Amino acid sequence: MKVLVIGSGAREHALCRSLSLDPDVTALHCAPGNAGIAEVAELHRVDALDGAAVSALATRLGADLVVVGPEAPLVAGVADAVRDAGIPAFGPSKEAAQLEGSKAFAKDVMAGAGVPTARSYVCTTPVEAADALDAFGAPYVVKDDGLAAGKGVVVTDDIEAAKAHADACRQVVIEEYLDGPEVSLFAVTDGVTVLPLQPAQDFKRALDGDAGPNTGGMGAYSPLPWADPKLVDEVMQTVLQPTVDELRRRGTPFSGLLYAGLAITSRGVRVIEFNARFGDPETQVVLARLKTPLAGVLMAAATGNLADLEPLRWSDDAAVTVVVASHNYPGTPRTGDPVTGLDEVAAQDAPHAYVLHAGTKREGDATVSAGGRVLSVTATGEDLTEARTRAYRAVARIRLDGSQHRTDIAAEAAEAAKTA
Ligand code: AMP
Repeated sequence: MKVLVIGSGAREHALCRSLSLDPDVTALHCAPGNAGIAEVAELHRVDALDGAAVSALATRLGADLVVVGPEAPLVAGVADAVRDAGIPAFGPSKEAAQLEGSKAFAKDVMAGAGVPTARSYVCTTPVEAADALDAFGAPYVVKDDGLAAGKGVVVTDDIEAAKAHADACRQVVIEEYLDGPEVSLFAVTDGVTVLPLQPAQDFKRALDGDAGPNTGGMGAYSPLPWADPKLVDEVMQTVLQPTVDELRRRGTPFSGLLYAGLAITSRGVRVIEFNARFGDPETQVVLARLKTPLAGVLMAAATGNLADLEPLRWSDDAAVTVVVASHNYPGTPRTGDPVTGLDEVAAQDAPHAYVLHAGTKREGDATVSAGGRVLSVTATGEDLTEARTRAYRAVARIRLDGSQHRTDIAAEAAEAAKTA
């Protein structure tokens, strides 16, 4: 199978790594990719948002499958363009990707499907927004109704900050605050059959102790030793299958990766958001534990054959990812700094720990930072404690001037697992 992956983050590096280990994959291509992906796939320059360019590339390469990683190309209709060219694509149509592209659309689908979520108002004027904020009270949750790479959401006790964010958006969703731990649950679907993956937890805030601003994600781990073993079955029945059924009923069937961001509240599971693609950084830990070769799973989803797939096989190992970010992330990041120590990780920590690249590029013989999140350092171990130790040992070998990372990824869960 010849596979083309679209994207350039650590999620795409994780996808490419798994695909490169799949014996059915005879050729692996990525566009545009990054310095790390270049080690496992052949890179191609293409505008990832240009459906015609992506499908022309896929045709030229003789690709059997195109995997669209990020949300922006999906919302731009890149998966549709590939399918129109007669090539299977893993990723939803432009219409179905609105589940992520518009929070208001997602709320409407959830209402239609009877999926539990936060009560909310869609507001288009400052007056409406102020009324909605008053109605719910603090903490305030204000969401830009469009794609914002995980950074369009403000959760605050400060009414002025909440209003200021609402005023800055064309249309906002203001909603009830959900307490309780968050879980990310991914499911692969062909529009009819839904196959859940293993749950993970990510860390959205920039600083230790969940302080600081929201980011695209600073780390993740899987499995969740504290979670109810029945959680996946429950979410399948109350969230994932009803959502896929509702989208099909509306004439916008969803195939690809359905990502449910969940809050486990005192009143039960609630959906915080849906995404229409693999989450970053949760993909790094979920794929680290998946034993079933990946290409066949993605192909079955892309071609409507998931019902015939054997059950997925999972490793009992735990996995932890720690994101190394540039100076000033999630503000305007400083880029162009050399990244060193990667060879040391490869020499001393592999195979249990490895580095997935996000914002990196090659400059001559050097790897330099090229974005906010630069690396996802990923490790596996018998339990979360071992996986954490290995991940942080590898992080300590990496040098990037001014870089930042959280030191508490999976710490609480590892402790809880010890005393359980
Ligand atoms: P979203 O982009 O909707 O995933 O929101 C980003 C982050 O904001 C989530 O992962 C939560 O940590 C937080 N968040 C979003 N909605 C709520 C809510 N209703 N209650 C509490 N926290 C929220």
